[in-house]
Amino acid sequence: MVKFVGTPASGGLTLAKIKIVNRRIAGFKRVVLAPHREKALFDAAIILAKDEIKTLMENSSKDHRDILNFQVMMLDDNGLKTMVYNHIDQREGAAHSVELAMEEYCARVKAINDGYLSLRTSDIRDALTRVIDILDGKNRERFKLTEPCVVVADEILPSDLASIDRKYAMGFITAAGSYHDHANIIARTMGIPSVCCVDSEILNPLNDSRQVALDGYTGEIFIVPNEATVALFHHKMKREQRDSVMLDKIRQSKVVAPDGQEVKIYANCNDPKDITLAINNGAEGIGLVRSEILFMSTVYDLSLASQIRFYSECIRAAKDKEITIRTFDIGADKPLERLQLEKEPNPALGMRGVRLMYTHREIFETQIEALLVAADRCGQINVMLPMVAVESDITDYFTMVEEVKERLLKEGIIARDRINWGVMIETPAAALISGSLAKYVNFFSIGTNDLTQYVMAADRINTNAARYFDSHHPAVVKLIEMVVQNANRYDIKVSVCGESAADFESAKTYIEKGVRCLSMAQNAMLPVKQYLLDAFAPN
Ligand code: PEP
Ligand code: MG
Repeated sequence: MVKFVGTPASGGLTLAKIKIVNRRIAGFKRVVLAPHREKALFDAAIILAKDEIKTLMENSSKDHRDILNFQVMMLDDNGLKTMVYNHIDQREGAAHSVELAMEEYCARVKAINDGYLSLRTSDIRDALTRVIDILDGKNRERFKLTEPCVVVADEILPSDLASIDRKYAMGFITAAGSYHDHANIIARTMGIPSVCCVDSEILNPLNDSRQVALDGYTGEIFIVPNEATVALFHHKMKREQRDSVMLDKIRQSKVVAPDGQEVKIYANCNDPKDITLAINNGAEGIGLVRSEILFMSTVYDLSLASQIRFYSECIRAAKDKEITIRTFDIGADKPLERLQLEKEPNPALGMRGVRLMYTHREIFETQIEALLVAADRCGQINVMLPMVAVESDITDYFTMVEEVKERLLKEGIIARDRINWGVMIETPAAALISGSLAKYVNFFSIGTNDLTQYVMAADRINTNAARYFDSHHPAVVKLIEMVVQNANRYDIKVSVCGESAADFESAKTYIEKGVRCLSMAQNAMLPVKQYLLDAFAPN
């Protein structure tokens, strides 16, 4: 038995035979023709490559189609064509010219230093390798599987996955690749175990057809596993099967309140990747995106362009499900070095959340612009304001929104307003005047972390005061009930997005008080759902 350890890229366990697919086979002799003939060969190869990719798209999922569609568009890029033609004019053959242009093109994309575009380099390589293979007359169906096996390859590209027969693909092991590349994203959505960044020794042809035990959770790989390892894998696989049947059942079930109304379970998320995971894990919507993450991110920044990209990616990741983005909630327990906030004796009672619009107007204006543009381009969103205590928090903020919107409409930057506005109810004042606040907005989202802190006069991060920080306290529950009644009276939606939504007993109480949407950390969704299904099961 030989053990390798790589980076876990898609969970799952498998025991199967290895099929080695090594793309980096030594080159063979290429004959170089006159430039005009090499150019004609290149043009024909592009047409054929696009046709092949379009055929792959026909049987692909929506995500996968988007990726392949990008590849087709990239093959039409005139910049790329010019690069290839320039090399051909230097008397390089068409295939080698594409190889050279591919490296230049990928280097340019990488230089833009954009996390999203960097991911796209694997798509660029995928599409151009297809063109090179066509020019070299190589088989593009390396991934045609005829029996169940674990594919061991130097790398797996998105179009390889489109041609793969799912019933034979038991797992992937790659020497290159990364957790975030598209092939692994797709492997995860297909539920195929995958381990990447494995020592290239694994590609040794002697390993072909040998048995392998692959653990996509830990990244462990055992070639020719001994009896004990095989027995352990059988045991783990049986347990996994039992768990996954049960979790799938929970994921697909609907929680129904005693009055017959459905209760939605949403996820709280930080970024597009989080959102994708949550949606795949059964989230029925995204109830809270904490946009202040932009102040800490290494992938995004606070510039208008970066914010538009962030919100657009969040909306797309939510895949037509309802998504609620919260405007920057900075200050108090979320101090940020990048923003020079004035030192205050009681920061939790000072300038935080929406209140900062009075001192940092330009930051909020940029955020409003980015949200309006992203919604206009990518779809309807909910946006909510944190830390509201008085009506003028909303009216002053909305004045700013109107000014930004008017300018964007006038300049033709947006064609319409696709934002539904809401407020977080997280101060006792907001809860008590929720009847008045309802007229300004379309929804309430109850932030029980802060609501408990302010109702109970117990600092949420002070462990000495932890016994007072009790979201089950009748005072907190009474206010929540009041907010729900006001929301119902004025016919607006209400949800709970604080941590207590993931507390079994609290979740049950909120539903009994009329809440029909709970938003929580995604790993809490299924356990909470399971508890509620049992709690409200018809007798
Ligand atoms: C809350 O206060 O309950 C909440 C969801 O917001 P945060 O924890 O980010 O303050
Ligand atoms: Mg809060």
